Amino acid sequence: GAVKIERALITASDKTSLRDLGQFLHKQGVQIISTGGTAAKLSADGIPVTELSEYTGFPEMLDGRVKTLVPQVHAGILAVRADPAHLQTLQEQGIHKIDLVVVNLYPFEETVRSGANFDECIENVDIGGMALIRAAAKNHASVTVVTDVRQYGTLMTEMSENDGCTALALRRKLAAAAFSRCAAYDAVISSWFAEQLGERFPERIAFEGYLKQTLRYGENPHQQAAFYIDERGAASAGVASAEQIQGKEMSYNNIVDTDAALRLVSEFSEPACAIIKHANPCGAATGVSMEDAYLRALACDPVSAFGGVVALNRTIDKAVAEQIVKLFTEVVIAPDASAEALVLLATKKNLRVLLTGRMPDPQARSRTVKSVSGGFLVQTQDNVAAGADDLQVVTKRPPTEQELKDLLFAWKVCKHVKSNAIVYAGNGATVGIGAGQMSRVDASRIAAWKAQEASRNADEEVSRTVGSVVASDAYFPFADGLVAAADAGATAVIQPGGSKRDAEVITAADERDIAMVFTGTRHFLH
Ligand code: 5GP
Repeated sequence: GAVKIERALITASDKTSLRDLGQFLHKQGVQIISTGGTAAKLSADGIPVTELSEYTGFPEMLDGRVKTLVPQVHAGILAVRADPAHLQTLQEQGIHKIDLVVVNLYPFEETVRSGANFDECIENVDIGGMALIRAAAKNHASVTVVTDVRQYGTLMTEMSENDGCTALALRRKLAAAAFSRCAAYDAVISSWFAEQLGERFPERIAFEGYLKQTLRYGENPHQQAAFYIDERGAASAGVASAEQIQGKEMSYNNIVDTDAALRLVSEFSEPACAIIKHANPCGAATGVSMEDAYLRALACDPVSAFGGVVALNRTIDKAVAEQIVKLFTEVVIAPDASAEALVLLATKKNLRVLLTGRMPDPQARSRTVKSVSGGFLVQTQDNVAAGADDLQVVTKRPPTEQELKDLLFAWKVCKHVKSNAIVYAGNGATVGIGAGQMSRVDASRIAAWKAQEASRNADEEVSRTVGSVVASDAYFPFADGLVAAADAGATAVIQPGGSKRDAEVITAADERDIAMVFTGTRHFLH
């Protein structure tokens, strides 16, 4: 199992910590061979190093496209140490064994991110480095492969504790990581290439992600789960890149709900709050302050809000923190928090607090992936937002200014409610939400009933649906859903339109003096 490291090939684009590694290996008596830039850096740091071109007798050529692609290197790595014929060949050809390969690939990902042109990106596709990594990983029975600066420490510890040797267990682990690195690197290249061709859905698709954390369990305790960061979405200020500053570990369901909450509030430019349970809002509101928005969101369904996930689209200030800590809440996510707010939140040890730095862009052109048995579905994000100009008034009565504001509010919230979705709203706050029903009229009834319950619990004389507006995520197939809303006291409706029976629905609205607008876009969410 243990292999003594006597000769190392180091070729590193990222020169971070190169000096520490070089000094360590030199002290261990390891011969270091390096490509041009790496050798220059090591030499400059006073570390003895053999230039690869000197070692092989070939210069680096074709602008660095061919540096390490020679038998002296690859046979030195790939020779099976236990095979006398392999060793005989090395001897005949005058090739020495290479026991350690340290590679940092050309920074393809960073080059793309920097906005470089096509040719520059192509030039940053590493060829020889990939071959080195694959060769060393394949021959991990004898060779140690390091593909990330963060592995230097592990390697040095292992060698210092084992007389300059590495154990098979570590070499296997490093080999697995090496193949993952190659896969992720090629995945980034392939998706970038498909994008260059204008192909959103290429013939083959590769996903690149790295493990953020393994979770205690999945949706249920008997399911195993892990959270991966999508390389392409890493800069999106979403849940995956949020920093958790306190509280218990996030669970699978927490992550799903927190994502839903954050997406919802990201729709609003004014202060807004959403409270989520089981991926659906049990309240959402805008307000003059974070505290106002939170209290108004909470008022929609305070019973369901217990143990919910709260998202705010502004800094958590002291006033809203004082309110949040009064109720049992699983997670709070926001772009930032004031020092005073943090002190208050810290009194709730288990409360998870996540900060994103800024709000994600709801119009971003990202993708969603959903697995089905034996496959997966990929689609672009539902990033359409309706503004007042996109609405078509279809009833005799146009909405009043206040109704129009509330209709747009309800529509934004409705987009984030599972289908069939019906949302009653008034004064920039939801008053009743019907989510995830198989029938639209049931969603409508449930939303109205929830509002009536909330009114009753708050000892209000009139149901909150009276004088409210209604949003429906897809068209009303029949007039019954609209009639149910009118019966509940709603005065205005927003929906996509496009049903065969639109005329019937419009007539039913006109008969009841309801103002109705069509958006022309549907917001199914499953
Ligand atoms: P250096 O900075 O030492 O001149 O170059 C280091 C980089 O070259 C590393 O990122 C390594 O992966 C890459 N590299 C090593 N050998 C080859 C090769 O033969 N072809 C190409 N394209 N890249 C190589």
